[in-house]
Amino acid sequence: MPKIGIRTVAVLLFGPPGCGKGTVGKHLTGCFDIPHISTGDILRENVQAGTELGRQVQSLMENGGLVPDGMVNRLVQDRISRDDCVDGFILDGYPRTLEQGKALAGMLEEQGLEPLVIHLKVDYNKIVSRLTARRSCPQCGAVYNVISKPPKTDGVCDEDGAGLILRGDDCETVIRQRIEAYEAQTLPLVEYFRQLASKFYTVDGNDGSPTDIAERACHHIRAE
Ligand code: AMP
Repeated sequence: MPKIGIRTVAVLLFGPPGCGKGTVGKHLTGCFDIPHISTGDILRENVQAGTELGRQVQSLMENGGLVPDGMVNRLVQDRISRDDCVDGFILDGYPRTLEQGKALAGMLEEQGLEPLVIHLKVDYNKIVSRLTARRSCPQCGAVYNVISKPPKTDGVCDEDGAGLILRGDDCETVIRQRIEAYEAQTLPLVEYFRQLASKFYTVDGNDGSPTDIAERACHHIRAE
């Protein structure tokens, strides 16, 4: 995939849990050579490594709740001030509340970065069936779907042979709670950025493969 020279752009991926933000984020990283930063991944790594932060957030995450704004804001501020972010980055799963959005708007202004929003829209029932079928590799992070993208051997990662796991927060009750948290806390934030960002694109995430959906998002950025 040829890289194009977009510079100083912070891509914000918005959309309900399970709408494909992770896949789109990885695809965009490949297209534009800027890092993909997922707060969910960073928090899960902390939980797995048993860090102080990980211990503080573990049960909140298992129950589908949101980690306090101050904690994630610090984590993101620290991550985006690293050298690999000077030409921009892709944020996935952050911001998630209006408070986080306002904090991010301040950080972006300080770094001279303009937000470009990709809002992924997916039907909630589709999300529940997608997420309950999702399996991931705890070692390399590869993601499968038992229906649409099964591994070659049931329950085993194609890449490294590790046993695949169902994320603790991917059961239906917790998924519905995460969707409710998205509706209550993140949707007002989407409206905030709709007003703030001159580059705001809505992408239909209902049909097509994850790569097709990611390509739709890429197309908007390339057209800049
Ligand atoms: P995700 O992988 O983005 O679905 O995130 C998994 C979980 O991590 C969420 O359900 C939250 O508990 C926590 N989390 C990730 N990002 C944030 C954020 N920006 N604010 C608060 N909690 C977050």
